[in-house]
Amino acid sequence: MGVVAMKVYVGVPRGFCAGVVRAIDLVEIALERFGAPVYVKHQIVHNSYVVDSLEAKGAITVEDVDEVPEGANVVFSAHGSPPEDFEKAKTRGLKVIDATCPLVIRVHNEAIKYDAEDRGIILVGHQGHQEVKGTMGQAEMHLVDDGGELDLPEWDADKPVVVLTQTTLSVDDTLRSIESIQDNFSDVIVRNDLCYATTNRQDTVKELTDVSDVVLVIGAQNSSNCNRLREVAEARGVPAYLFNGPDELRAEWLEGAEHVGITSGASTPEELVQAVIAAIEPDEVIPIGQPEGDITFVLPRELRD
Ligand code: SF4
Repeated sequence: MGVVAMKVYVGVPRGFCAGVVRAIDLVEIALERFGAPVYVKHQIVHNSYVVDSLEAKGAITVEDVDEVPEGANVVFSAHGSPPEDFEKAKTRGLKVIDATCPLVIRVHNEAIKYDAEDRGIILVGHQGHQEVKGTMGQAEMHLVDDGGELDLPEWDADKPVVVLTQTTLSVDDTLRSIESIQDNFSDVIVRNDLCYATTNRQDTVKELTDVSDVVLVIGAQNSSNCNRLREVAEARGVPAYLFNGPDELRAEWLEGAEHVGITSGASTPEELVQAVIAAIEPDEVIPIGQPEGDITFVLPRELRD
């Protein structure tokens, strides 16, 4: 890009989490085993580069189970699905491969358990996000969207309550929402539903802001965890930009910057990060953060070899 002498600090960990790797593997295994086309309900993960590569191999992404032809194979996305989608699939004779991340299924199971115990369930999450739709289908619950004013349920203050969360929220904002719920109800169980990938990538972006003039987050605009990374950097006073890859990189973001932090969300392929670094042509690339170890999630029994 021909800019001034520049150091790039690259976040560790960054990019794919175990749930995303598993979901992509499941679509690829389904394509190999059953042949194209394999339908995918909702973007398998929120990254159009990933979706396009799978579609080039024969995957077809749809938004609704009704769009899948009767009897076809369909993968349900990593974000999780409400029970009614499984029922619809059954009625249509579809073979469902469920790519819901095990950490999202854990939240579903918590909802079912606490509903059976008659606790009021408050879900902290973002209205309309695919994961929230899946979790809200599991039981009656009240959604508190921490993106704006907290809209708490008008329940008696002594009603037993449990707080569940979307897995990909801001660690700091979620803490504030939980504190506010605890101020309003006397018997509150708080489940720690933010996933390891969300927490670790936000910790890393905080470290990046300590050494960077600007932070570049590589990922999709509709990815919740990518947006939170950008916000975490901005909240610490460092300009931050979220974009898909080298084609969208703008020279003015780097004007005067000698220290550039780069990271990526849980659904962003590493090749896009490397392509952005190559486009910047830094003098030095320095990793910042601590590796999170080799975390993998098992595949469903019927698709394990
Ligand atoms: S971001 Fe977290 S919850 Fe979402 S797929 Fe990855 S590990 Fe699972």
